[in-house]
Amino acid sequence: MKNIVLFGAPGVGKGTHALLLAEKYDLDHFSTGEMLRQEVADGTPLGLRVKSLMDRGDLVGDDVVIGLIDKAITSTDKGIIFDGFPRTVQQAQALDFLLKRHQRRLDCVISIDAPREELVRRIHERAAVSNRSDDSDEATIRHRLEEYEEKTRPVVDYYKVSGLLVSIDGSGQINQTSMRLCKVVDQIIH
Ligand code: ADP
Repeated sequence: MKNIVLFGAPGVGKGTHALLLAEKYDLDHFSTGEMLRQEVADGTPLGLRVKSLMDRGDLVGDDVVIGLIDKAITSTDKGIIFDGFPRTVQQAQALDFLLKRHQRRLDCVISIDAPREELVRRIHERAAVSNRSDDSDEATIRHRLEEYEEKTRPVVDYYKVSGLLVSIDGSGQINQTSMRLCKVVDQIIH
């Protein structure tokens, strides 16, 4: 039962690749972004609380996303691919704690890397086909990338220290990145 974190900046393609990997390796795919968008769409109290934060491109509070991930981990016996979580060092520490509580451990953290101009280009491309409000506003996109640099990038060092981090080039076509990812996952699984 393997547990993998897929890590990377907004727009790098975490969601796309997480879905592909989940299917290929029969893992459960947990995306905090998707979970939060569902709460907003359902108009739950939590959704109402986080909507304006997400629309501005702010990170949602650690307690909120840690609660969602706790529930998700409890709901499955399969291996897991985490997408968009953890995004702060506090979330990374909470994930270690939660996994231990469920007699699991993290097997690998794969960081997908791409240059900033490419991230912005992909977010614009996605805005044309999705109805994500945070993809269509210039200031929000910029702020999400700032939040990433300030709060999420330190998570890389957290995992470097634990020896779990593998970085791959995600600047090319989807199938190129996918091949690189599968090579890493194949090594963990076999
Ligand atoms: P992207 O990677 O393109 O920014 P996500 O779907 O992962 O897209 O996240 C969308 C938004 O949801 C984020 O900008 C943030 O407001 C919120 N969010 C998602 N995951 C987290 C998290 N782990 N911690 C805090 N906020 C989160």
